[in-house]
Amino acid sequence: MPYKRSDVISWDEFFMRVAMIAAQRSKDPHTQVGACLADTNDRILSVGYNGTPSGINDDEFPWGTSDDPLYDKHNFVIHAEANALLNYRGTLKDMQNATAYVTLFPCQECAKMLVQAGIGEVIYWQNTYKDTVGAAIARSIFDKCGVSYRQYEDADTLTEK
Ligand SMILES: [Zn+2]
Repeated sequence: MPYKRSDVISWDEFFMRVAMIAAQRSKDPHTQVGACLADTNDRILSVGYNGTPSGINDDEFPWGTSDDPLYDKHNFVIHAEANALLNYRGTLKDMQNATAYVTLFPCQECAKMLVQAGIGEVIYWQNTYKDTVGAAIARSIFDKCGVSYRQYEDADTLTEK
């Protein structure tokens, strides 16, 4: 009897790599973010990446910042976490205590949505904006609502490719 393989990747690495693959679908030239939601039985519920609402042609979309709010991407793009929640076609009961794997620590708006959907833990890869007010608010939201969060333990071993 052959011994089973023991050097398989962990669930954390598996779901984080799925989130990283999702990020590669993003058309945003500056920031590509992916999210993968996994339930308490290690099943993938949903994935998402940052992108425009489906009715907006992302080929013609102005992918930059602008003084004109109608031409500033930030006013139109749906974040990866929000898309992952919205992409799910099952009942939100399944989100109870699920884990959100995200390639970038969530903004305050996504933090609120993840909490309200029932997510119990957030595992992030990068934490680029950790010193911003928005990140402090997101952490405060998670702390007050009992959602745990931690950086992916082998974050240094993950690469963009
Ligand atoms: Zn967000």
